[in-house]
Amino acid sequence: MMYAEVLIEYKVKSLDRSFTYIVPEHLKNVIKVGMKVSVPFGQGDSLINGFVTNIKYEGNFGNLKSIKDITDEELVLNEELMELGKFVRDETLCTLISAYQTMLPSSLKIKTIKSDFNKYETYIKLKVPKEFVRSLVEEIKGKKQIEILNELLEKEKLSKKDYSPSAIKSLLQRGIIEEEKVSTYRIDKEEAKERRQVTLTEDQRRVYDEIVASGAGANTFLLHGVTGSGKTEVYMHLIEHVRSCGKSAIMLVPEITLSMQIVDNFYRRFGSDVAILHSALSQGEKYDEYLKILRGDAHIVVGTRSAIFAPIKKLGIIIIDEEHSESYKQDNSPRYNAIDVAKWRSNYNGIPVVLGSATPTFESYARALKGVYKLLSLPKRVNDASLPHIVVVDMAKEAKKRNSVLSSHLKNVLQDRLDKREQSILLLNRRGFGTLVMCSSCGYTFKCPNCDITLTYHKSSNALRCHYCGYFIKKPNICPDCKSDAINDSGVGTERLESELQEMYPTARIVRMDADTTSKKGSHERIIADFKEEKYDILLGTQMISKGLDFPKVTCVGVVSADASLNIPDFRSNERTYALLNQVAGRAGRSGLESEVIIQTYNPDHFTIKMVEMGSFLKNYQYEMAVRKKLKYPPYYYLVGIKVCSRVYEDASLEATKVYNHLKSSVEPETMILGPSTAGVFRINNVYRFQLVVKYRHDAKLKGALKEADEMYINHKTVYLEVDMNPYYI
Ligand code: ADP
Ligand code: ZN
Ligand code: ZN
Repeated sequence: MMYAEVLIEYKVKSLDRSFTYIVPEHLKNVIKVGMKVSVPFGQGDSLINGFVTNIKYEGNFGNLKSIKDITDEELVLNEELMELGKFVRDETLCTLISAYQTMLPSSLKIKTIKSDFNKYETYIKLKVPKEFVRSLVEEIKGKKQIEILNELLEKEKLSKKDYSPSAIKSLLQRGIIEEEKVSTYRIDKEEAKERRQVTLTEDQRRVYDEIVASGAGANTFLLHGVTGSGKTEVYMHLIEHVRSCGKSAIMLVPEITLSMQIVDNFYRRFGSDVAILHSALSQGEKYDEYLKILRGDAHIVVGTRSAIFAPIKKLGIIIIDEEHSESYKQDNSPRYNAIDVAKWRSNYNGIPVVLGSATPTFESYARALKGVYKLLSLPKRVNDASLPHIVVVDMAKEAKKRNSVLSSHLKNVLQDRLDKREQSILLLNRRGFGTLVMCSSCGYTFKCPNCDITLTYHKSSNALRCHYCGYFIKKPNICPDCKSDAINDSGVGTERLESELQEMYPTARIVRMDADTTSKKGSHERIIADFKEEKYDILLGTQMISKGLDFPKVTCVGVVSADASLNIPDFRSNERTYALLNQVAGRAGRSGLESEVIIQTYNPDHFTIKMVEMGSFLKNYQYEMAVRKKLKYPPYYYLVGIKVCSRVYEDASLEATKVYNHLKSSVEPETMILGPSTAGVFRINNVYRFQLVVKYRHDAKLKGALKEADEMYINHKTVYLEVDMNPYYI
């Protein structure tokens, strides 16, 4: 008898284990560990999917049910990924089954996707030696047949559909040619076009050599390179090297839409050897890209966070671009960090990981300074382009001149760029029209009924919206409280800035990029492409404009308000503010044109703002590290964020105290537990959230205690826990 242990897809944590099933006769030769199967389970034997975790032949198992079927012969978790799932479970305290589900392209409705997948293109190629064909050409009468043979003497294969079916038929019958079916993929890229070899600069070469020289071994490199220092080119050279050794590569990017320029570069350089994986692909496209990797048709995976689980064989390097990006941490369960997964795979395969950034996280930088990571740096821009000149403008002074949105200096520079036909980028980290809608006669403000947050006015839809839960209402004309019609909005969002700019510069061509203008598939790419082709003079938008874009004609970058980011109450806000401002400043002057970055703030003397002005990542780091040490924050201490959530206020509050008591009595005495306190936004979508924060250095008991706390609420009717190891935000 053949048996399989199957880990079932059941969302109950207590059932996160394997069950034994009989492998029926017809599956004996196909079934493998890591395969997805459907099995009868529970009362009524309803079918449920699961993963085969083990296969065995002996044992006394009593009355067992049989596996019904396999769901997909191709989607198989290999040995490495089966192991990796356990690591993800242990690191994030999730179930093993949810770890495995996360690793495969979203729990696909495989059958329906496959049906439109089975597309093959048929090619024809020679079955006999070329010399023989040359002698044959004399004999054959059909003009079309000769044409085909002549082409096949030049080219290895031809697409069947391009040639006369009857001619092909005769050649096939004579045994001169044969057919070859090649599966086609929904995203189909041609062979690499760009054979141009860029010569690395001296700095790039030094970095490249050091990584290549490290050879086999699980080394983590931190590549700290200023904006425009040519990190992408280094990545591509590294991947070329790895490919020339017959190995494969994974490169992660923060958000694919922002990284389209990089993806394009990769396609040009590596052609169809590239597979992309990200959430904006359709289910079918995702499936295809995944198969390309599984079948070994593509060896370079470029993608967002979950691409770190790509089932690639003979992995030779993992590269993580913009390693400081918060997108690498998943913010729902399983709350894994792709960088930790990368390091696990690096250990498993004995290969390097390269973390690249102009502004690494302080955790990474500290590790690099301690020698845990190898620090490599690219201190200069390519082609001797200088970093842009940064000017900080005190908005308190401007307010006296009645300039509440744009300072006179920024206005002048914008005008100057319009005159010179150069481009400008404006960052405003707040979408919508205004920030606060208020009745100016009684002070009434509009709040979301589901969340503890005020609504934002959106002019184009004339609506007040909640940015947390999506709730919206039509903007009322009279105050619900005092019936006055004095309803005004204050503050500036991207939408208002756009209309004010248009008034100020009537002939300027302005484009806005934020969550509202980019909700449609492809709209991101269109805005970026149009701006690059200089169809616009000014690009304004939220932080999505700050990352990775390479526009040669941009010579002015304006940050409308640096304070929004500075005022976020989070211990990483200075680190993030520096990263954001440095990143957006880095969009200017990339081709060597003289350029200027203007940062507007009410806090011109703030340390971080000063460091941005001086361009000193290191000083900002050192200053912040002293603060972190004193306040016991990472990287000196590890954090765990725990949220106790319920729609019933009293339950959330009561259980938060219970969780606190449980942890306090189970962990090491040096471990600190803070709270319970109300989470930043206390109520979201009618769920109340109490928060506990754990700070620790070493605590062997902590994970066990957290697991127990989590298990206390597995079957709770009204309360659930969210446990986040090493959260990005607290
Ligand atoms: P980063 O990612 O470090 O901000 P990029 O990789 O975008 O920088 O490179 C900046 C610009 O310099 C790009 O336009 C790129 O094509 C160009 N570049 C990079 N390396 C070289 C090189 N060795 N020679 C010439 N141009 C280069
Ligand atoms: Zn009122
Ligand atoms: Zn809401």
